[in-house]
Amino acid sequence: MQFNWEESEKLAKIEEFATDKVRKAASKIDSLSEYPGQLVKEMANLGMFALYIPRQYGGDGMSLHTLMEAVRIISRECASTALILDVTVSLFAEPIMKYGNEVLKEEYLSRVATGEIGALAITEPGAGSDAASIKATAKREGNKYLIKGAKTFITNGKEASFYVVSAMTSPENKHKGMTLFAVDRKSAGLSIGNEFRKMGIRGTSTTEVLLDNVEVGKDDVIGRVNEGFRIEMDTLNVGRIGIASQAIGISEGAFSDVLRFASETQTEPKENLKFRISDMANLLHSSVRNYEEAIHHSESGNNSPLHSSMAKLQAGDSSVAITSSASEILGYYAMTEEYPLERRYREAKITQIYEGTNEIQRLVIAKEILRSGIRF
Ligand SMILES: Cc1cc2nc3c(=O)[nH]c(=O)nc-3n(C[C@H](O)[C@H](O)[C@H](O)COP(=O)(O)OP(=O)(O)OC[C@H]3O[C@@H](n4cnc5c(N)ncnc54)[C@H](O)[C@@H]3O)c2cc1C
Repeated sequence: MQFNWEESEKLAKIEEFATDKVRKAASKIDSLSEYPGQLVKEMANLGMFALYIPRQYGGDGMSLHTLMEAVRIISRECASTALILDVTVSLFAEPIMKYGNEVLKEEYLSRVATGEIGALAITEPGAGSDAASIKATAKREGNKYLIKGAKTFITNGKEASFYVVSAMTSPENKHKGMTLFAVDRKSAGLSIGNEFRKMGIRGTSTTEVLLDNVEVGKDDVIGRVNEGFRIEMDTLNVGRIGIASQAIGISEGAFSDVLRFASETQTEPKENLKFRISDMANLLHSSVRNYEEAIHHSESGNNSPLHSSMAKLQAGDSSVAITSSASEILGYYAMTEEYPLERRYREAKITQIYEGTNEIQRLVIAKEILRSGIRF
């Protein structure tokens, strides 16, 4: 897949920023569970939040592939820093770009382009994999809706200036009665509840978002009323490519640790090491192929659930296998800060869980294959 000149230049600058700045900060971000506020500002100054936003809303109008490569490059150094960008653009801005009305686009896309943070709030206690079983409601009152509910495990929860929130508008119709709303952080009744401590991606906040009769207008509806579930699934098809890019970046970081270790500590790599390097390369290669194929489908106007799920599944499972194998190769070095492998190992795990666990990806893949009869 090709980039134009402007995109290639931008990615080269991002690569420089990642190796100069993000690499140095990553260990401290992790060990102190510290939000990388300064790096986020620098990403905004570099135009990273604007990459994929259309030009008329203050962005650069670059391809989805460019955004995903930016996430991949930053993830090689720090998965937390990359996730803040990924969630803001591919989970908050994406549904507004695709389904939002002009009012929402003018209001929110221009703010994302300057680096304001966004979040997607769908998960609730007891409604994770089964996103249609949420209890949050949005009650119509004249021209307004009142949203009431409690969202949990929301990435960027603490720093977000705005959220895309799912709520039931016709609960009796189950998933056909769900609507997505854009909600500004400053809305009365919106508050941040508990923040969770995590095994990985510790530089991101993961919080409850509580909505106590939060008033939104009818212009804040994303797409049409009761179409929220379909829009949410379409958004996750892009989001899952973002998780694949994060997982690939983590794997590439671990792979480069192994190659550095091999060159620094061995004269002639032992056979066992060669087998492991070969297996890692194979997993990485197939992850990248699936990821690029999913991007290709998405950019061709067909957000394919099959390809997005295959990209996330392959890259997520591979990143856990690769960081685990890399840790074994490095022996005790993997447990020290000399190589950031123990952090990468902890960062990889989440890519199998969020935006649909990898069991859910397997269900999607099987359903699509059985439905369409596709053969490879
Ligand atoms: C760090 C972190 C960040 C997150 N960020 C966000 C965010 O920004 N926004 C947001 O809305 N959510 C977010 N989430 C929530 C995340 O998407 C959910 O955790 C995920 O979808 C899984 O839901 P669950 O945890 O409720 O697990 P459950 O749905 O309870 O699943 C538990 C286990 O059962 C399996 N399982 C469930 N249903 C089936 C089935 N039908 N068939 C086979 N196996 C099944 C699952 O695969 C899993 O292994 C985040 C979670 C974490 C941990």
